[in-house]
Amino acid sequence: MEDIADRLLRLKENLPSDVRLVAVSKTQPVERILEAYKAGQRIFGENKAQELLTKAPLLPSDIEWHFIGHLQTNKVKTVVPFAKMIHSIDSMRLLEEVAKEANRTARTIECLLQFHIAEEETKYGLSLEEAKDICSHDKFRKHPFLVLAGVMGMATLTENPMQISQEFSLLKDFFIELKRLYFSDNQHFKEISMGMSDDYLLAIAEGSTLIRLGSALFGYRNP
Ligand SMILES: *Cc1c(COP(=O)(O)O)cnc(C)c1O
Repeated sequence: MEDIADRLLRLKENLPSDVRLVAVSKTQPVERILEAYKAGQRIFGENKAQELLTKAPLLPSDIEWHFIGHLQTNKVKTVVPFAKMIHSIDSMRLLEEVAKEANRTARTIECLLQFHIAEEETKYGLSLEEAKDICSHDKFRKHPFLVLAGVMGMATLTENPMQISQEFSLLKDFFIELKRLYFSDNQHFKEISMGMSDDYLLAIAEGSTLIRLGSALFGYRNP
């Protein structure tokens, strides 16, 4: 059976040089995360505050932790000490809380604005109007410890590649619009986090800069 190191090597061989891989390690034990680490992977993604808090201290300190799941404001305190990037900013209130904690702990946190691009009702995310409202505030754009670094989205779970590509293309349009309006002279706003194990090739074709892969790397996980 192919192991994590083999899968990682094969995945990386085929990635364009401007696309970074977030290894989604949710539900994976530290031993399996270490396997990927030893094979050279440094960016890992977790989606639960408590799980990040439990695992991060047991793993090498040069791992770059990305928080990718829905984040409740009362969990921000748990996540900020570990996360380099939070992909899932889905309200102004959440961003305000992250800004406050980043300030208090003097840690620079990169944040992505999560958009609702899928047709499913249940997925979290901002509308373009809400994102514009956030970006129009200097207190976020010019915050000493907060970096607005780009956008994130999840496509609909569907067999229809046309629909998935259209949703990714929409996210790219949102990115371009925000870049033009608020970040034309800001080189930090540059990330488009889109693409998971089943749709990352479509995401790369539409301009993804960060793909988030779990099962393609670690195999199927217990839900
Ligand atoms: C679990 C998860 C992923 C990875 O999913 P796979 O299909 O296993 O690649 C990516 N992004 C988010 C937000 C997730 O929760």
